[in-house]
Amino acid sequence: MKDKKIAVRGVLGDGDYNRPYKCNACGGIMIFKGVGEYECEDCRDIDFDDYGKARSYIERNPGSTQAQITEGTGVSAKSIRQMLKESRLEIASDSRTFLKCDICGINIRHGSLCDKCEVAYHRNKEEQERAARAISGYGMDTKPRESGEMRYINR
Ligand SMILES: [Zn+2]
Ligand SMILES: [Zn+2]
Repeated sequence: MKDKKIAVRGVLGDGDYNRPYKCNACGGIMIFKGVGEYECEDCRDIDFDDYGKARSYIERNPGSTQAQITEGTGVSAKSIRQMLKESRLEIASDSRTFLKCDICGINIRHGSLCDKCEVAYHRNKEEQERAARAISGYGMDTKPRESGEMRYINR
């Protein structure tokens, strides 16, 4: 993880990322302005959540590694990992280090599954849903399972 170069991807996730709610300067309410940026409704002071901090750091320092971002912004390694998992950030295309797909272990740049496993995962869910409907409707798919067991016993 230390030498992974990180790039901005910018899909909204649902992590909290240390959002600023209160203005550091006057105690006013911080209004969300977009892409991790917040503005005080009273004194117009600007602050950032972890995503905003990491994002602006990467824009100023393209090709930064996770360690550099953490050092430069104070955003934790855990938070950066979370943003990679949620595809808010991705591994830069010229980086030689990667994340691993949770299912097949192939190298990926963002999220937790590769494109192939993501599709397979959803197909599998669709099949399960279809099978569940078939069973509750007609019970048609119990037959092949029985003949499979018979063959095993005969051997
Ligand atoms: Zn303020
Ligand atoms: Zn995979």
